[in-house]
Amino acid sequence: MNQEKSVKGLLIVDVQNDFCPGGALAAPEGDKVVPVINRLMDKFTVIVASKDWHPQTSVHFEHWPPHCIQNTTGAEFHPRLQSEKIQQVFLKGTRDKDDGYSAYEATNLDLNEYLHSKGVTDLYVTGLATDYCVKASVIDAVKMGFKTFVVTDAVSAVNVKPDDGRKSLELMQAAGVALVDSSQVL
Ligand SMILES: [Zn+2]
Repeated sequence: MNQEKSVKGLLIVDVQNDFCPGGALAAPEGDKVVPVINRLMDKFTVIVASKDWHPQTSVHFEHWPPHCIQNTTGAEFHPRLQSEKIQQVFLKGTRDKDDGYSAYEATNLDLNEYLHSKGVTDLYVTGLATDYCVKASVIDAVKMGFKTFVVTDAVSAVNVKPDDGRKSLELMQAAGVALVDSSQVL
């Protein structure tokens, strides 16, 4: 029997100040994911994160208030996130014609290649926001063949419409993603 060994990776999407309460484009409960993600990090050997990393002017800001501008406080990780445990950061939306919703659109490094180089087969996705960058990253992870999980208490939605987060989770589930609670991982 040649059974492939599964390797679990943790992806932390955009847990940045601008997406947390008080930030330029906040998920109203965005900071609640921080302690959950901190606990999850102890269970993974491969830990990566994405950052929205926009230039001052971008087509992206025709749709959104300016946020996560390169080298500003708003673009920093939430101060309570144990970011020293993150092994590699993937920067996206870095150019003026680049939305960069999915972590797989990072321009500094290729996330798909990186995860494969670490042997990751199963990807656990956390972070902000459920209805935009988490959703886009998760859908790409499925397309690229990862067994993909969303940790539901480690993601949070912007909810421009009140149901956006819930509907996004349903859409991800329909795409073949498993929804799990952090207690199932810890
Ligand atoms: Zn953005």
